[in-house]
Amino acid sequence: MSGGGDGRHLKPATRLVQGGRRKEWTGPVVNPPVWRASTHLYETDAERQAAGHSNADGQFFYGRRGAPTQWALAEALTAIEPGAHGTVLYPSGVAAIAGIMLAVLKPGDRLLMSDNAYDPTRSMATGLLARLGVTTSFFDPRDPDAFRALLADGGVKAVWLESPGSLTFEMTDVPLLARLAREHGAVSICDNTWASPLGFAALEQGCDIVMMSLSKHVGGHSDLMMGSASAGQRWYTALRSVSQELGQVVSPDDAALAARGLRTMGVRLAAQTAAALKVAGWLEVQPQVAEVFCPMLPSHGGHAIWRRDFTGGCGLFSFVLASDDPAASARVADALALFGIGYSWGGYESLALPITPHTYREAMACPCAGRPALRLSIGLEDPDDLIADLAGALKLV
Ligand SMILES: *Cc1c(COP(=O)(O)O)cnc(C)c1O
Repeated sequence: MSGGGDGRHLKPATRLVQGGRRKEWTGPVVNPPVWRASTHLYETDAERQAAGHSNADGQFFYGRRGAPTQWALAEALTAIEPGAHGTVLYPSGVAAIAGIMLAVLKPGDRLLMSDNAYDPTRSMATGLLARLGVTTSFFDPRDPDAFRALLADGGVKAVWLESPGSLTFEMTDVPLLARLAREHGAVSICDNTWASPLGFAALEQGCDIVMMSLSKHVGGHSDLMMGSASAGQRWYTALRSVSQELGQVVSPDDAALAARGLRTMGVRLAAQTAAALKVAGWLEVQPQVAEVFCPMLPSHGGHAIWRRDFTGGCGLFSFVLASDDPAASARVADALALFGIGYSWGGYESLALPITPHTYREAMACPCAGRPALRLSIGLEDPDDLIADLAGALKLV
């Protein structure tokens, strides 16, 4: 859904509130109603034919192209993504990743992928994409020279970036790698789920396509699955057309929930970032903790990049226990009372997850190197209560 140019002079917090709330979609109420629709009705057959031919954004046609509830969410996401012409919605973050890959790549193409990309993104490259004749090389996202060498081999159609990376949170110099990709005629794609556009303006920093799992911060309440991809005009048009060919559509009920989450995403992210920094800083000095991977901490190897390129953080980080017992991470997770054990993140409630990132690395050494490690998603609880909970659990290490 294309967002047009309105509201771009407003600050991000204001755009979060205003985006997508067109009068013709909301009527006299604040939020766009839930338009449940497969069939759209026309006054005349001539109107039906015109709608079919135009295929324009915001055009009533048939349920698979959405209705105002989905259009309003897409437009609000475009409004907070500097440099975006439009946003396509998908039924999950992984569906967004697949939609992007299929819009950009064809048999015979080469893909370069950051070695710390989200695990299902990696599996898509080595599974689905490999079966379609796309070859993927993984690279260490902290090593621009190795990246340059891979590009120089030729034939690279696209570059997949994710910063900070999943589970181990290494930072990437995205502006540099995106520029190198462009110089070699490759499309750069960024999974920006961690920071959201409030924390990192990926398109403005040089990427061609940016995606998010809306199941995380945007939903924010652990009750929906959705994904999005935003881009400038050329790639937006390609993404939209492939998403229509694939028959991708999101339910209006979920779109309304996601839009509701989006309105408070700024304050939630700010609170979760501050709380995560407090918890991470505390963990860092505990004798049972060997290392904390949180880019907002000054001790983090990628902190300078985070300071330079990012305008915000997130509640998600991980840490390694000072123990060589692989079962120690599960003992800690089981002992926590305020942290749920589960996948996903970015909700209002805190989560703890034992992780084994070394099983998903091939181009770089894993900083956990088989040691027990946990990922925390810090929610909206008081950080002092979370710290007390962690202090009790760490006694079992
Ligand atoms: C969760 C996640 C995804 C996938 O999103 P789903 O909505 O769960 O399909 C993609 N990238 C990152 C970084 C994620 O954390």
